[in-house]
Amino acid sequence: MGDFRRTVGGMAAAATLVAALSAAALPARADDAPKPPNPDSVNRVLPHAPYPVSARARALHATIPVADLHADPLLWNRDLLKRNDIGHIDIPRLREGGFALQDFSVVSKSPRSANYVKTDANDGDVMADRARAEHWPRKTWNSVLQRALYGADKLKGIEKRSHGQLRIVRTKGDLRRALHDHVIAGVLLSEGAHPLEGKLSNIKVMYDGGFRVLGLQHFFDNELGGSLHGESHGGLTPFGKAVIPQAEKQGLIIDVAHSSEAVVFDTLAIAKRPIIVSHTGIKGYCNTPRNVSDAALKAVADHGGLIGVGYWDAAVCEPTMKNVTEAIVYAVKLLGPEHVALGSDFDGGVPMPFDASEMAGLTSSLLDAGLDEKTVKMVMGENAIRFFSTYLPAK
Ligand SMILES: [Zn+2]
Repeated sequence: MGDFRRTVGGMAAAATLVAALSAAALPARADDAPKPPNPDSVNRVLPHAPYPVSARARALHATIPVADLHADPLLWNRDLLKRNDIGHIDIPRLREGGFALQDFSVVSKSPRSANYVKTDANDGDVMADRARAEHWPRKTWNSVLQRALYGADKLKGIEKRSHGQLRIVRTKGDLRRALHDHVIAGVLLSEGAHPLEGKLSNIKVMYDGGFRVLGLQHFFDNELGGSLHGESHGGLTPFGKAVIPQAEKQGLIIDVAHSSEAVVFDTLAIAKRPIIVSHTGIKGYCNTPRNVSDAALKAVADHGGLIGVGYWDAAVCEPTMKNVTEAIVYAVKLLGPEHVALGSDFDGGVPMPFDASEMAGLTSSLLDAGLDEKTVKMVMGENAIRFFSTYLPAK
């Protein structure tokens, strides 16, 4: 989430999104005062001419099961069953873009001054504010775990109302059937493991709630260790070191997006299975506080993992099709084609160069940049499909 546009220090932009999220919680205004702007408006698609799609690219794109490791449409009160002219994702645009799989991120806590450089974990929580103001079930008001489960239930509601267009996958078999039936496979991802509320027993509660990807940190240091944007930049705590093996045993995939580099290396030292970085930029291509060093991402790849390249400006320095393409080409050269995937952060509260319906434009741009068809198919979806087909639980 919320890798909102920022300059180094980024406080201002953080305030914009936190304000947007908080505004979403404002009670309806009785009088005829001007309505506050729709908080969803932070999810802009930057104005652009239609991206060119060569005939070769269109033909290739039609054969790709497009897959994305991280998006936050569940954060907003948008009807994802209809084609919206706001935001980056909904079911119709996922179908137009050729998506076979989308990770749906659930955000359960966000300090008011969340920023990329140094976030105080104890500076309130706009998600708790929203739970109250938007009248979420009372049990969500004081529980990060219950807010995470509420987010998962939101996707289950969309699944039910989608008349089979979207199917939440929990096992290899679910994914195989979704691919066979050409429906969109949705994977539930928790952005940070703070919903565990410091208890190992909550790993099974999250799993039973439908989550299959467990991010360890978000914008702030938590019980498991340091965030990339926290105050300590520390490694895994003893609790964090106990979570990794138990989460793997339970069948959860570990995600170290937003984790401190010390946590990344500590996790790689313990994890028995490959891990992912669901949405990130690469410091060697774009040196911002949001991005992770080439060495850390290379270590994740050498451990068999998958890195999702993002599209927003702190990830690629300028949110353009050109920069997204260059960042992916850089990642392929650095990490190897089998370790690179898409990690858009669509609807993460950031302006984007394109939306989910325009993925053929990225396929075309990657071909124009000189990647061969096999590599383009791998990056655009096959790597992620292979990864989830391998590491989702058998049953
Ligand atoms: Zn994020």
